[in-house]
Amino acid sequence: MLQRLRTAGLRPTTARIGVLQVIQTAGSAGIGADEAFHQMLLRGTHVSTSTVYRIIHELQTLGVLLHDRGDRRHTVYRLRPFAPAPSAEVRIVCRRCDRSATLPGAQLRNELELRAAEKGLRPWVVDLVLQVDCLGCEGATAACCPH
Ligand SMILES: [Zn+2]
Repeated sequence: MLQRLRTAGLRPTTARIGVLQVIQTAGSAGIGADEAFHQMLLRGTHVSTSTVYRIIHELQTLGVLLHDRGDRRHTVYRLRPFAPAPSAEVRIVCRRCDRSATLPGAQLRNELELRAAEKGLRPWVVDLVLQVDCLGCEGATAACCPH
C-alpha cells in the first residue's frame, strides 16, 4: 500500500491507506464509494464521506484505481493490478524484418521522464521500444529503389 502511494507521488496518510485497504479487500468485485466509507468505519478508521470521495477521485485520477459499473449499477472501484517494473532496457526492432537488439536504456528513460516532468507530465514508461530500419533492410531498399 505504501509503495502504491509513493509510486503515485502521494503521502501515505491513514485515510489514503484505509481507502486502499478496503478496496484491495473487495478484490476483483470492486467496491462502491459509500460501501468503502462504511467498511472504513467498521475497521475503526474515522473519516468523513467527503474525504473518502476525494481520496477515491484522487487515486482514480492518478491511475491507482480502476472504476466501472458494477452489478448493482453503481460505480465500483478496484485496484489497478501492479504494473510490471519498468525495464531498464530499450529494445530496438526493425519494423520490416523484426530483427531486434536490446540495449541499456536507464539513461534514456531518465532523460525522457525528466523532459516530460518539465512539461508537467507524469510519465509511466513501461517499455521503451524503438522502431527502425535495420541496415539489412535499408540496404535492400537502397539496392532496389535508388534515389
Ligand atoms: Zn530489417
